[in-house]
Formats: sequence, structure tokens, C-alpha cells
Amino acid sequence: MTASQQVVLPDSLEGKTVLVAGSAGFVPSHLSEHYLNLGAKVIGLDNFITGSESNVEALAGYKNYEFHKCDVTKGLPNLDGVKIDYIYSLASPASPIDFQVIPEEIMSVNSIGTWNLLQLAKEKGARFLEASTSEVYGDPEIHPQKEDYWGNVNPIGLRSCYDESKRFAEALTMTYHRTHKVDTRIIRIFNTYGPRMRPNDGRVIPNFINQALKGEDITIYGDGSQTRSFCFVSDLVAAMHRVMFSNDPTPFNIGNPDEYSIKETAELIVKLLDSSSKLTFLELPKDDPKRRRPDLTKIQSVSDYEPKVSFEDGMRQTAEYFKSLF
Ligand code: NAD
Ligand code: UDP
Repeated sequence: MTASQQVVLPDSLEGKTVLVAGSAGFVPSHLSEHYLNLGAKVIGLDNFITGSESNVEALAGYKNYEFHKCDVTKGLPNLDGVKIDYIYSLASPASPIDFQVIPEEIMSVNSIGTWNLLQLAKEKGARFLEASTSEVYGDPEIHPQKEDYWGNVNPIGLRSCYDESKRFAEALTMTYHRTHKVDTRIIRIFNTYGPRMRPNDGRVIPNFINQALKGEDITIYGDGSQTRSFCFVSDLVAAMHRVMFSNDPTPFNIGNPDEYSIKETAELIVKLLDSSSKLTFLELPKDDPKRRRPDLTKIQSVSDYEPKVSFEDGMRQTAEYFKSLF
């Protein structure tokens, strides 16, 4: 058996139930749709703190979709007698502008919320996947980032509510794995974009595309030399599915390794959208990571994962989505 055969993907998930916490959000709504298309029943939970009703409406057409409005930090809906096979713990705001507006909600969902979901996984005998983040590497001193790097995080900085609570969520997940024998997985998601992001989300891709579409100045923070690696959402969902069906409880990086400076990203978007926008340079937020790129060796050693959507295609599809909201 070759290493790439370690992940065996099911052809269908008919008869299986997948619970997605955060289902009204950007990534979770696409993930929910992926499982509905595989024939699973999907139970979505969300309190709409950063999610949207329209994402739930997009899923409501599937007869196997069941949605519960609920804050996972305050308790879960009554699921007595309901069989649950897989739990995705995706509920958490993720935009750096949220880190200053709702820091306690972020810390609470990644600690108490994750705890409640792990407990549910234990009670139901379900496999559990925690959505962690490349932010656990902080402002990394190792490039590209491999899973065995422990990171360089400022524990009291403006981003710490997110970075440290995600690190806590990873620790809690491993604790449930070791102590309660829950079958767990952890993914570290690198910058992901696509349709269903909030236009005013504050993250770089929605900002730049909307500014370019409106002919407004493109707001580059700092000199734009910092880098990110952008993954289109369908590629991310393909990677999440592979990790769920792997047999390794330790973290997997997932994303797209194509790395761009932020200035280059702005220039490419302006060109792609044939925009008249000019670049403007604003103050760089504190602790903004200088470089970020996933080392994907680990996921690629156990599966056939390969990002498929190019920067240009992904940006075009995302721009079409934002245009449809005008
Ligand atoms: P998102 O904000 O669109 O989705 C998160 C969803 O969780 C929202 O619908 C929100 O309303 C919901 N939520 C938050 N707190 C909740 C609570 N207490 N109870 C119930 N629902 C709650 O963000 P996203 O970008 O789709 O991110 C999804 C997950 O992936 C998050 O866990 C995030 O940390 C992780 N992640 C995303 C990225 C990315 O680039 N998109 C990168 C790293 C990690
Ligand atoms: N950024 C920018 N202009 C914006 C929004 C973000 O230059 O309008 C920069 C930000 O400073 C960071 C990068 O783009 O260096 C990615 O930011 P984002 O908020 O998308 O996520 P991060 O990777 O920092 O979590």
C-alpha cells in the first residue's frame, strides 16, 4: 500500500449524519453543501454572529439539511436519540477586525464551544474535527510552516484572543483524544477566500475585490511586502474532507502554497478586474505576520490532495459573487 492510499474516501455518505457548527458562515456553508451533495444529513448550528441568513437559505433547498439557531457556548440543541457520525467544529469569527470588536466571544467559542462539541462527540461516538488556523504559528520564524513548528505567538497582543484560543482548542481536542478516546482530527487552515464571504468582512480579499469593483483606493497595510498564500474555498473543502477520512489525530496544514506579497495581490486584482483603483498605503496593524505559506507535505503524503483552482479563476468567481450583491 502506498502512502497516498491511507485516506480512503467514501463514495457516498447516505445514511450518515454530519453536524457542522458555524454552518451559516463562509467556509462552513460550503462544507455543509459538500456533505449534502454526498447524500449525508447535515445538522447546522449557528448564532449568526458573523454568519448570514442567506448562507442558510442557500442550503435550505436540500431536504437533508436541518438548521438550529444556537450559540454553542450556551449549550447545544436537544439531540437525544439522534445518531451523529461526524462533527465539524468550525464556529468562530475569523477576521482580524473581529479580534478587536468581539474578542471575548472568540475566546468563548474556541474554548467553551469546542468543549461542548467534544462532549457531544464523546456521547455520540462521533468523529470530531477541529478547525484550527495558521495563526497558531503567529509571526512565524520558520518558512514555509510545517506542522511540527510550535509557533511564535504574542500571548497578550491584539490577535491573541484568536491565536491563543485556537491553540487552546487544539490542546483540548488532543486531551479528549487521549483521555476520553474520542476519535479526533485537527486542521490548520491557511488564508481561504471565495463566494459567501461577507463583503465587509475586513479580510484582504473581500476588501481588495470590493474596492477594485467600486474604483476605490486599494488599502494596503504597511508597504505590502508581507505575504500570504490564498486558497479557494472548494480546494479547502476537498482538503477538510480528506483529513476527516485520514487516521491521524495530529494537526494537518491545509491551504494552497502559492505565495503572494500583499502588494502583488492588490496589483493582480486591479489588473484582473480591469479596475481604475489606485493603491494607498496605510499603517500596518501590530503583530501582522510577515510571511505565511503552508508546507503541505503531510496531507500530500497520506492523500491525493492538490489545490486545483488558480488565483485568477478563484478571484474571478469571488468578484462575480460580490457583484451579485450590488
Ligand atoms: P465565518 O465567520 O464566515 O464562519 C464562522 C461561523 O461561526 C459564523 O457563521 C458564525 O456566526 C458562527 N459562530 C461564531 N460563534 C458562534 C457561536 N458561539 N455559536 C454558534 N455559531 C457561532 O468564518 P470562516 O472564514 O468561514 O471560518 C470558519 C472556521 O474556519 C473558523 O473556525 C475559522 O477560525 C476557521 N479558519 C478560517 C480561515 C479562513 O481563511 N477563512 C482561516 C483559518 C481558520
Ligand atoms: N491587509 C491589507 N489591506 C486590507 C486588509 C488586509 O493590506 O484591506 C493585509 C493584512 O495587514 C495582512 C494581509 O493583508 O498582512 C492578510 O490580512 P487578512 O485580514 O486577510 O488575514 P490575516 O492573514 O492577517 O489573518
